[in-house]
Amino acid sequence: MATAARLDTLAEIREKVLANERLDFDDGVTLLETDDLTGLGELADTARRLRGGSDEVFFVNNLYLNFTNVCRVKCKFCAFAVTGKQPSAYTWEIDKLVEHAVEVHDRERYSEIHMVGGENPHLEYSYYVDLTRELHDALPDVHLKLYTASEIHHMHKLSGLPHAQILAELQEVGLGSLPGGGAEVFADRVRRLVAPGKEHPDNWIATHRAAHGIGMPTHCTMLYGHVENYEERVDHWMRLRDLQDETGGFLAFVPLPFHPENTVFQRRGWRFSTGYDDLKMVAASRLMLDNIPNIKAYWIMLSTPVAQVALHYGANDIQGTVMEEQIAHAAGAVTPQEEKVQSLVTLIRDAGRIPVQRDTLYNVVRTFA
Ligand code: SF4
Repeated sequence: MATAARLDTLAEIREKVLANERLDFDDGVTLLETDDLTGLGELADTARRLRGGSDEVFFVNNLYLNFTNVCRVKCKFCAFAVTGKQPSAYTWEIDKLVEHAVEVHDRERYSEIHMVGGENPHLEYSYYVDLTRELHDALPDVHLKLYTASEIHHMHKLSGLPHAQILAELQEVGLGSLPGGGAEVFADRVRRLVAPGKEHPDNWIATHRAAHGIGMPTHCTMLYGHVENYEERVDHWMRLRDLQDETGGFLAFVPLPFHPENTVFQRRGWRFSTGYDDLKMVAASRLMLDNIPNIKAYWIMLSTPVAQVALHYGANDIQGTVMEEQIAHAAGAVTPQEEKVQSLVTLIRDAGRIPVQRDTLYNVVRTFA
């Protein structure tokens, strides 16, 4: 009986991983080009365990807020932003937003607020400082993970202050960390095509470097699945890895699949990324970003079944309860938080892993043995 020889495209990379050698640019392209998805996932899971990972999977109890959906930038992949004249435009008054956050906290006891917003040309720099201060004063035990690097750059343009000074001022009034949004794909070619109104990607790197320099941890992302090629994905990982070598300030990396719905890309026939590509991205991210401890399977964009499989492909975190998330989904009714925690616990357990509730800084809150 004839047997088909299986071409092991990952053999050399597997040797490097087992020898704890760093993967290079070409290895990154090979990871993305391989058809051996199962082998890739197994290798990523091996790398995660070799770097100290166990069966524990993290999640956080968090509230998502968006203080405004008005934005001047008009990124082509964005279905969230509107102009100030559109009927769905909103901007929260500070006291109302704080009141809302406190009311939800009284009920749900979340430990983190993740808040980003559009670059609204009608807001002043003082709005950001006051909003941060008032949230912190009202909820001193809640970690404030607010404002993408793009928003920090927007504040720089509003105030004329250096980015580092803005970060220090926000830290002074309660900012705990930066989310990773706004990175998209760093390559100039991609940025010109999908986000021509956005600042140069070097600003993203410089802002995160400045945050790390004042002891403020941050998160990092890549929005993939639009016009970028494999080389540009690998280039993005390498830039993040270099900064992490320099500062050690990234807590986690989140690969974000592009959702074309309600964007110009949908009209041009773009489709959602496949589970195949999503799992490849999780696994290859784990392998390439050998110095970033946590890789997230962001269930709200991956879907829960793909996120569960991703926990066997190198991910060790499923983000959180993400209550009131609006950017990836239209806002809906608030599900009681304990129910959301319980459903994440079940999701992780059903994937054969041990759920661990964490805070933003990865301190363990509760292990669901
Ligand atoms: S992605 Fe952010 S910066 Fe770009 S249009 Fe949407 S809200 Fe504005």
